[in-house]
Amino acid sequence: MSGLLPDSIDPLEWAKTGQRVGGALPLAGMDRLNALVEAGVAEVEITLAGQLLAGGRPVLSGHVACTVTVRCQRCLAPFELRLEAPIRLGVLADEADLARLPKGHEPLICPAGATVSLAELIEDELLLALPDYPHHAEGMCSASTVPAQETGKRQPFAALASLRKNGPQSGQDD
Ligand SMILES: [Zn+2]
Repeated sequence: MSGLLPDSIDPLEWAKTGQRVGGALPLAGMDRLNALVEAGVAEVEITLAGQLLAGGRPVLSGHVACTVTVRCQRCLAPFELRLEAPIRLGVLADEADLARLPKGHEPLICPAGATVSLAELIEDELLLALPDYPHHAEGMCSASTVPAQETGKRQPFAALASLRKNGPQSGQDD
C-alpha cells in the first residue's frame, strides 16, 4: 500500500488538481520522532488531500495516525500510545502571505513549483501530537494503584501520606 505514496509532493499543484492519497508510510526514516519514543511501529497511516478553498486559497487536509511505545512519566513503564492528528495546512508561497491563511489551518510555507517531503510533513504532525508528558490513562498506571501484595491490608501510614500530599502545603510559599 505504501508503494502508492509519493516521496515528495508539490502542495500547490496538489491543491489545484485536488489530488488525494491514502495509505501507510514507513516510520523508519522519521529520525526526529524515533529519537523521542521507545519504539515505533512499522507504519504511519495517512490520508491527505489537496483542495482550493473560497478565494482560491490552497490547503492540504487529512489525517495521520500511528502507534508508538513511550515511557510513562509517572511509573516509568513503557506503554503503547496511539498518536492521531488531523492535518489542516494552508499552503503559502512565503511568510508575507500569512494574512491569507485560512482560519483553523497551520501554515505550510512552500513557493510555487517547490516540493516538500511527504515523510517530513507527516513527521511534523506526529511530533505535534506527541504529548510532552506521556503517561498511562487514569486507572491504568501502576504508580497510582496499590501493589497487589498490599491489597486487603489497612495502611494507616499510606493514608496519612496521601492526605499530606494532597492537603494544603505549608512552608512552600515560594
Ligand atoms: Zn504509568
